[in-house]
Amino acid sequence: MGLVNQLARTAVTMAKGHLVTLRELFRKPMTIHYPDEPVPHPTGFRSIPVLKVNEESGKLNCTACGLCARSCPPAIIFVESYIGEDGRRKQWPAKFDLDLSRCMVCNLCVEACPFDALEMSEDAELSAYAIEDLYFTMDELAALWKTSRSVRIAGGQKV
Ligand code: SF4
Ligand code: SF4
Repeated sequence: MGLVNQLARTAVTMAKGHLVTLRELFRKPMTIHYPDEPVPHPTGFRSIPVLKVNEESGKLNCTACGLCARSCPPAIIFVESYIGEDGRRKQWPAKFDLDLSRCMVCNLCVEACPFDALEMSEDAELSAYAIEDLYFTMDELAALWKTSRSVRIAGGQKV
């Protein structure tokens, strides 16, 4: 191939490349400036389970029965009943912790709860630099329920 031919092919290739660049300049960007711009979640998107608070009494619906903990595949829910002064177990939790770092977001704990005490949260912005910060206590899980929208069932409707 002669030099002229090579130069012509190079010029055509460069022109094509610049055309692509020019075309993209006027297209609507596909990217979002997260976290400055919020990313919309599809309906039914779910994050971690959170503890529902009874709006009238201000108390948790949880009775510390432990069924959610037993149904959780990675065993990351830690529930303990409150022990009264009489030494007997009461039907509310003294402890309800969740290790988010190992949560599969499977919803099984919500389905296992007979007392409507858990809901999947829609809050996806829970990342942390330290793994210890992904360990949520009872009060933190209740606070999350109050501030985030929730999804009741897998892929289902919000309430
Ligand atoms: S969503 Fe699944 S993995 Fe996460 S706490 Fe509930 S049962 Fe466990
Ligand atoms: S959240 Fe529901 S299943 Fe889990 S301990 Fe409380 S009442 Fe029982």
